Amino acid sequence: MKKNIKTLSGQIALVTGANSGIGKAVAIALAEAGAKVVVNYVANEHAAEEVLKIIRDKGGEAVALHADVSNEKQVQAMFAQLFKLYGTIDILINNAGLQRDAKFWEMSLEDWEFVLRVNLTGQFLCAREAVKEFLRRGLRPEVSKACGKIICMSSVHEIIPWAGHVNYAASKGGVRLMMQTMSQELAPYKIRVNSVGPGAIKTPINESVWSTPSAEQELLKLIPYKRVGEPDDIGKAVVWLASDDSDYVNGATLFVDGGMTLYPGFATGG
Ligand code: NAD
Repeated sequence: MKKNIKTLSGQIALVTGANSGIGKAVAIALAEAGAKVVVNYVANEHAAEEVLKIIRDKGGEAVALHADVSNEKQVQAMFAQLFKLYGTIDILINNAGLQRDAKFWEMSLEDWEFVLRVNLTGQFLCAREAVKEFLRRGLRPEVSKACGKIICMSSVHEIIPWAGHVNYAASKGGVRLMMQTMSQELAPYKIRVNSVGPGAIKTPINESVWSTPSAEQELLKLIPYKRVGEPDDIGKAVVWLASDDSDYVNGATLFVDGGMTLYPGFATGG
């Protein structure tokens, strides 16, 4: 008989960039699975409060904390506040990310560095604080078999090159090896580090490519499963990767992409 206990009961989760798109869906899904959720935001506090309301209306527990993930001091201050509120952390979802697109030869150094700083350095800064706490605290066998779980929001562009988005693709390629290296180094301490690699998911980051029927038709050519993803597709995958159901999964990227990484251009012979 299955015990009627939620998969993530008693665990504390931090989701960065959780007031929009994928992060919002992930925060809600984690709360539904029983975790207490910290909703990080850098701008638009009102949107973060809306996420809290959705979670609380469903009977979950959540607080919002401000920090720019690319700022070391702000990240450390956010973790200090989190520890004051909840005492510890069990799950980190490194989700915050953005794009600043340009043709390669027109890309400014500022846009190159800005995207790397948020998408890659931001994940490093948050993961470092979480890992310090996992190591200090040790295992909590009453809530999980692992001492801590980190899930990096990567992208299909950790392996698919993307013209016009060199800073973004480089940042996600960096996330891939950062995640794998962390996993190799931290698995002996029972810390699990994995990534989710979304394909095309309907969020504000890519509204221009799905908001009109003709743009959506173009996009569908890249998706063998013939539908654009929803934020909740990612929420479900993250809950699984954060739970003991995936306890033997270490250093993996779970692509949730309707088959976008299957080189659909070759489906008709190439
Ligand atoms: P989004 O724009 O809706 O959400 C991004 C979130 O990150 C926002 O809440 C934003 O405020 C936050 N953020 C940006 N800079 C930040 C900073 N310095 N500090 C803290 N928060 C910051 O976009 P999304 O699609 O939900 O993107 C979420 C993640 O998923 C990103 O890492 C993105 O690269 C990844 N992703 C998205 C897709 C997609 O199709 N939507 C595909 C692959 C990967």
